[in-house]
Amino acid sequence: MSEKYKITAFASRPDERVSFDLFEEKLNLDIKHVSSQLSLDVVEQAKGSVGVTVLGNCDCSKPVLEELSKMGIKFLASRSAGYNNIDVEAAKSLGIQISNAQYSPNCVADFAIMLALMLNRKVVTVLKRNVANDFSLPGVQGHEMKNMTVGVIGTGRIGQAVIKNYSGFGCKILGYDLYENEEMKNYITYVDLDYLLENSDIITLHTPLFDSTYHMINKDSIAKMKKGVKIINTARGELIDTDALIEGLKSRHIGAAGLDVLESEKGIFHTDCRMKGMYNEQIAILKAFDNVVLTNHVAFYTDQAVEDMVYCGLNSLYQFITTGTADFEIK
Ligand code: NAD
Repeated sequence: MSEKYKITAFASRPDERVSFDLFEEKLNLDIKHVSSQLSLDVVEQAKGSVGVTVLGNCDCSKPVLEELSKMGIKFLASRSAGYNNIDVEAAKSLGIQISNAQYSPNCVADFAIMLALMLNRKVVTVLKRNVANDFSLPGVQGHEMKNMTVGVIGTGRIGQAVIKNYSGFGCKILGYDLYENEEMKNYITYVDLDYLLENSDIITLHTPLFDSTYHMINKDSIAKMKKGVKIINTARGELIDTDALIEGLKSRHIGAAGLDVLESEKGIFHTDCRMKGMYNEQIAILKAFDNVVLTNHVAFYTDQAVEDMVYCGLNSLYQFITTGTADFEIK
């Protein structure tokens, strides 16, 4: 067997270890595990590696990439799908090849549907009342999914899985994307963004975070939505201006929100904060609403997805090292 390729895995979690060990062997890798997220403080841990694998919560900004480059590191493979944490232009100028992970979209799609069902059937209120032995009906009447018009913003891999799920409920589905997908036209009607905002009972977000999508849900777009609209976000927190969302919830223009991601989640989500005395005003306000379901960026978190994410990260590094490119290279 030839010499193993040394790589460093940042933000390596214990639950990923079985998959890391499996693919380390298969791909002839020698993996150094670092539990900390990549940042300037820990970047030197990568010394001696040919490549690094990171998660979406790692800092891959220009200063960090410059440090990696000084160590001669040429490859960075994210185990996450979203790559808004990576300064793509800086990586290009430093000659660092980068990739993201493309794993089964069903993990996030299932979760997005669960949030919609929970909002539609007022499950937060039902469960809170049950704790106090209040089993009464007033205030918890819901809606049937088949009567809903659903607006899907972003009809890529996850958006398409969401659309197929919604189609099973018999919903009317509107879609908006910069690029229309021919297969999806069997399930949805593509419309412009304003039409989608004005006509949807449920709006579900599935675009990446780019400059062009930052705060795409804001005061003005909320004003165009139907009164009582339900908003689902399992993509990136920064797609929504959270303060505008909170105002919309307070005024009751927004009927409910299901949020797996939040713009102020960094350093909080995926961390046990019980002993930290943490305070985040947006989280505190959102948790106080009975018509908000707030989860901590867990939509991706299934057994299948974790194995696929680790495989994608490691296989991309293997491909970069052995062929000079990777299936999911970001160019
Ligand atoms: P994808 O690249 O397959 O699809 C994204 C779609 O958005 C594309 O069709 C693209 O054309 C469209 N788009 C881009 N800019 C747009 C714009 N300005 N307006 C309208 N549409 C636009 O990506 P995906 O695999 O479907 O993932 C989508 C996002 O979901 C990821 O980028 C990531 O941020 C997020 N995500 C979240 C979790 C989680 O655990 N909550 C897990 C995985 C992915």
